[in-house]
Amino acid sequence: MYPRIVIKTTKFEHNLRYLQELFSENELSLMAVTKVFCADKRLVQILINNNVDFIADSRIKNLKSMETDVPKVLLRLPMISEVREVVKYADISLNSELRTIDALNGAAFEERKTHGIILMIDLGDLREGIFDISEAKKIVNEVINMEHLHIIGIGTNLTCYGGIIPSREVLQKLVDLKDELEEIYMSEIDIVSGGNSSSLKLLLDNKLPSGISNLRIGEALVLGRETAYGKKVKNLHDDIFTLEVEVIELKEKPSLPIGEVGMDAFGKIPVIEDKGIMKRAILAIGKQDVDYKELIPLQNIEFLGSSSDHLIIDVSKEPSIKVGSILKFKLTYASLLSLMTSQYVERKYE
Ligand SMILES: *Cc1c(COP(=O)(O)O)cnc(C)c1O
Repeated sequence: MYPRIVIKTTKFEHNLRYLQELFSENELSLMAVTKVFCADKRLVQILINNNVDFIADSRIKNLKSMETDVPKVLLRLPMISEVREVVKYADISLNSELRTIDALNGAAFEERKTHGIILMIDLGDLREGIFDISEAKKIVNEVINMEHLHIIGIGTNLTCYGGIIPSREVLQKLVDLKDELEEIYMSEIDIVSGGNSSSLKLLLDNKLPSGISNLRIGEALVLGRETAYGKKVKNLHDDIFTLEVEVIELKEKPSLPIGEVGMDAFGKIPVIEDKGIMKRAILAIGKQDVDYKELIPLQNIEFLGSSSDHLIIDVSKEPSIKVGSILKFKLTYASLLSLMTSQYVERKYE
């Protein structure tokens, strides 16, 4: 059945093992992030079989689907409305709000569990995290008295909203803060989680400050890229996932629509360039599944536009394409995310 994503599981496992080796050489633990592939069961099983240190996801629903002894980490700050599920299905969560932390403590009591928290510190990217260090100290002081929680680590997230690149100086601040907070906590804080795939570049250049003990890696694992500069990482595969889509119509038509111009299917007034008669194909996939601007064609075709379930392309330069042909595309982070989320896209494992 099409459309489908072909997943090369041996390449995924190669990327995982390469990262595991790199991390253990550098005394780092690896949190493998599963959200971009919606915690696909087969891929999660590969993580488990290879004894990955932690499995991390933003959604409780994804963590709930995993049965494993590998510690599970909730990446997105918990909603207060979901704290019972958080302590039930995650061993650790990332946090920045005292109210939420307090609610987690209550939930952990009710579930008879001890829940680990990683305090998120905002080092300037301005997505999540405690910005004011005095607030971090205050929270640590409060958690001392919360019987069902322990601070297992501190962490930061960069290159997500503000595009801030993790530098040695920025991450050193996190390492220094750990010592300060440990003094207040009067106990060791194990993990210093120095970011996501954008911190991989520092690691590869041997510039990660000592004291950083963990990274949370999604994109590099699945797409073989560090994300500070968007470069492919040598020795990692960038072609684990391929989208395959079928041609359902192929005709010569003008490039310019005929008649009075109103709105398109999404209420926008289309502006279309006249390129004369062209060979146009319709593919059976649409906006409901993916934004075509995030697809990387493996044939010489050009995108013309899409609606909910149709993608129109110019195939004038690919005479071998017929009705029923299967076209292939490489994926970006955004297209992989939305395609794995669409229930209309099948998966084939190789
Ligand atoms: C998604 C996410 C990650 C993983 O990011 P990648 O760029 O895919 O490696 C790490 N940490 C947090 C908090 C996240 O939300």
